[in-house]
Amino acid sequence: MADKKLDIVPLYEWGLFTEPRPSVVAGPCSAESEEQVMMTAKGLKELGINVFRAGIWKPRTHPGSFEGVGADGLKWMQKAKKEYGLKIATEVASERHVFECLKHGVDLVWLGARTTANPFLVQEIADALKDTDIPVLVKNPVNADLDLWVGALERLNRAGIRKLGVIHRGFSTFEKIQYRNDPQWQVAVELRSRHPELPFFVDPSHLAGCKEYICEISQRSLDLGFEGLMIESHCNPSVALSDAKQQLTPDELSDLLYNQLVVKDKDSDAPEWKENIDQLRAKIDILDENILYTLGARMKVSKQIGEYKKSNNIAILQTSRWDKVLSKVVEKGSDYGLNEKFIKAVFTAIHEASVEVQNEIISKKN
Ligand code: PEP
Ligand code: MN
Repeated sequence: MADKKLDIVPLYEWGLFTEPRPSVVAGPCSAESEEQVMMTAKGLKELGINVFRAGIWKPRTHPGSFEGVGADGLKWMQKAKKEYGLKIATEVASERHVFECLKHGVDLVWLGARTTANPFLVQEIADALKDTDIPVLVKNPVNADLDLWVGALERLNRAGIRKLGVIHRGFSTFEKIQYRNDPQWQVAVELRSRHPELPFFVDPSHLAGCKEYICEISQRSLDLGFEGLMIESHCNPSVALSDAKQQLTPDELSDLLYNQLVVKDKDSDAPEWKENIDQLRAKIDILDENILYTLGARMKVSKQIGEYKKSNNIAILQTSRWDKVLSKVVEKGSDYGLNEKFIKAVFTAIHEASVEVQNEIISKKN
């Protein structure tokens, strides 16, 4: 069943962003000093950024890490706002944070991933924001729970927040993966199709965890048709007090935005099918990645079975088991609209590769 549409003011009517895509929010992970805030803000303004972010209260994994400068940082941001004509944005995680932001002329707030995962806090923030007109972006919760994400959006929307959007920053994993957080793009794509009315940002900095993947993640976000990017930028990343590895200098950000990313603007002269085909291909790429991941995971289990057969002196091939597997997948496949010939060909290839790997294991001398 389709979700009930949220009551949303379109992004380009918030008074913060103008077309064309991407709408960019940029600034340091954390405000650290007046000098760092002013220098970064100046660099970003010069390259055309209008919305300046900085974390004031930092949710850190371990106690004793830098936990943000607190409300003093809002004064520095206000100064940057006045001096460079920037709009300012920060993360809020409590009612107190909201009140401080309102007092200091903050133009946009976002909920961090750890906050979105906590309905009590989301409700507290929603109540504190009632009767304000301040735009709110909601990061995905740390775990890949789409309903929890949507629930947070519903709470804010019910409190009358209509300038509401989302930020995809990926999901925590126990296993080490290439990126800092797992993109699971299918969750973002599912949210877009359930709530196409929601302005959509992607945070390549927290997804990547280091500079080198920021471009590919940002490009994918554009190819999926999302409107905005939230990118961490620091005047001197090597001495940053938090997330040093993933922050770009304003010059690097400029190079990314103006030289590296390819934006297919919906309003350009390019035929519309090009935009659509790129979005569809980006979806196919994600699905292919998921298939590869699943094949890899299956092969791992198959190897474990091989070892187990070996230690119990059991033959590799049990034809009755394979016949059962095949008829089950053919039947399930037809539920997904996949024909028998295709399913048989795919699973026979998978089975053959498994048998080959198990053969190698069994024939290896200890
Ligand atoms: C941040 O944006 O600085 C931040 C702490 O992000 P997240 O909530 O995605 O971890
Ligand atoms: Mn950060």
